[in-house]
Amino acid sequence: MKAKDWNPQLTDPLVQEYIRERVGEEGLHIADFIGKKEPVQGVEILETIKDKPSNIRKILYRLEDARVAEYQKDTDKTGWETFIWRLTLHEVKHQINKERQRMQKDLRGQLQLERENSFYICAPGHQRTIFEEAVGLEFKCPECGEAMNFVDNKDRIRDLDKAIEELEKLVFD
Ligand SMILES: [Zn+2]
Repeated sequence: MKAKDWNPQLTDPLVQEYIRERVGEEGLHIADFIGKKEPVQGVEILETIKDKPSNIRKILYRLEDARVAEYQKDTDKTGWETFIWRLTLHEVKHQINKERQRMQKDLRGQLQLERENSFYICAPGHQRTIFEEAVGLEFKCPECGEAMNFVDNKDRIRDLDKAIEELEKLVFD
């Protein structure tokens, strides 16, 4: 699947995972209801979903906060307010994308650190330490006192490279 052409659906595992993480399982349930009925009035959601109205309201606003759903408020002449809910899964796509970009930046930072440093560690494997710090510790592990030796980080660099490349395929505009 090309990320650019991705038209996110509630059935997509990635979307479900996002909603579970940001809103919780109930959020998925309510999003499903909105998706089937949209545009749907808030009153109908409150009447249909079997939960305390205060809970449902909380979940609805969390869904909105996570950009999964949005509402439109209509006020009639008598001042009566109606909330009309819709899903906004294209927004979810951007949220997921932002997360991936953050991860990518993070991995790039790690990669740079690995490339620009050499690392030392004791035999029991306590703490990987960059050369400058290891010098300060006289190459003795602060935890166990054993000698810290040079540790090859080629594999680590290769794994990071690969992870960044994989993410590259998934990040889109
Ligand atoms: Zn140690």
